[in-house]
Amino acid sequence: MDMKFMPEPYKVKMVEPLRILPKEERIEAIKKAGYNTFLLNSRDVYIDLLTDSGTNAMSDRQWAGLMMGDEAYAGSENWFHLQSTVQEIMGFKHVVPTHQGRGAENLLSQILVKPGSYVPGNMYFTTTRAHQELNGGTFVDVINDDAHISDNPDVLFKGNIDLKKYEDLINKVGAENIPYICVGVTVNLAGGQPVSMKNLREVYELSKKHGIRVMFDCTRYVENAYFIKAREEGYKDKTIAEIVKEMFSYADGATMSGKKDGIVNIGGFLAMNEEELYSKATALVVVYEGMPSYGGMTGRDMEAFAIGLKEALDYNYIKHRVEQVEYLGNKLSEAGIPIVRPVGGHAVFLDARAFLPHIPQEQYPAQVLAAEIYIESGVRTMERGNVSAGRTKEGKEYFPKLELVRLTLPRRVYSYAHLDFVAEAIIRTFKRRDEIKGLKFIYEPPVLRFFTGRFEHVE
Ligand SMILES: *Cc1c(COP(=O)(O)O)cnc(C)c1O
Repeated sequence: MDMKFMPEPYKVKMVEPLRILPKEERIEAIKKAGYNTFLLNSRDVYIDLLTDSGTNAMSDRQWAGLMMGDEAYAGSENWFHLQSTVQEIMGFKHVVPTHQGRGAENLLSQILVKPGSYVPGNMYFTTTRAHQELNGGTFVDVINDDAHISDNPDVLFKGNIDLKKYEDLINKVGAENIPYICVGVTVNLAGGQPVSMKNLREVYELSKKHGIRVMFDCTRYVENAYFIKAREEGYKDKTIAEIVKEMFSYADGATMSGKKDGIVNIGGFLAMNEEELYSKATALVVVYEGMPSYGGMTGRDMEAFAIGLKEALDYNYIKHRVEQVEYLGNKLSEAGIPIVRPVGGHAVFLDARAFLPHIPQEQYPAQVLAAEIYIESGVRTMERGNVSAGRTKEGKEYFPKLELVRLTLPRRVYSYAHLDFVAEAIIRTFKRRDEIKGLKFIYEPPVLRFFTGRFEHVE
């Protein structure tokens, strides 16, 4: 039988009712939120595609795991479970728990990044770059040029690092000023785009030649492994677990947000092989997160996380997840909506510049598009463009090439009927796009301004 889509590899055991506000109230709500979807109240949202971070539905096994929480201040049983799970899946020697991904980024950056350091990466991530810069480092984008082209459907590994750009940077600033290269798998801001195994291997070899550490931002590593299996020659018959193992053999360490591919609501860690880095990280974790046996998580959090890490390696789970994203992307694309192609692992990204060509980038087209989609439908999305990119040290806006609105799918939460509703709402918004006007800041926070900034319409 030819199925339109793969049925959910799970069934519903508990439900959370949804409600949709009348349109006039949605207009009021987004105005009150300063046209920033981050500032909407969750109760005013119908379908929440703001992020897939911590919004996952846990399994019955994970909920059962919560009851097994060992809430000891030190040496919790659940910590040992989490630690051995990470060691088994990723092959790293040491694990330092943190409350979420940015906790790990903070430790790593404080230990390794100094004024005068350069940290190359395959496109920036907001919190990752913020920590590098707060410690005096300079982020350098070494992603391949294709990643900056929104509609590029034939590029299968848009997250790949451009080895020439990386090598040029090494020659220019010297390997001694590059404490590590941060490799995102997948690359969130490029649209959830994967990095090929071949590229990971080559980046590792080049880094070793120059004595530079390779640190993965492995927040979305299962999605990356799925794309390698689906797209890269030689991996079709390998399990997700085998692919993941090989990926991590090309890294010296990693930062992880459990809120993504850990399929939990909170948690993270920093992992590494190096003894000295481990000892510095355990000294620092007590200052910012907690004991090296909980790092800001409760015992029950760690138990659910350990179970979630294992569940995420199930082929049917990850195939269904990525195919849901693909389904939504194809539906929009077929209706003529400009999106980032190929569709990535966790989200569909609308190309706001092509959607709203009459709004210049200094009037934040992606920000206003996210607000308009909410008004149209109660669906909450997120800006990933000029607002998210922030300002340089000199105070100038970055004007990134990609000006996007992200429709992020939480794991195991929404059905195909929800996705149809979302697609139709965006198609309706597209039809009335000429009436949409740009925005200006009325409050702009100094760092990570997208979280709490406020706007009003320009006349
Ligand atoms: C979410 C995310 C982070 C940060 O993790 P938090 O748990 O939100 O602190 C870092 N990198 C990537 C790629 C992410 O998606």
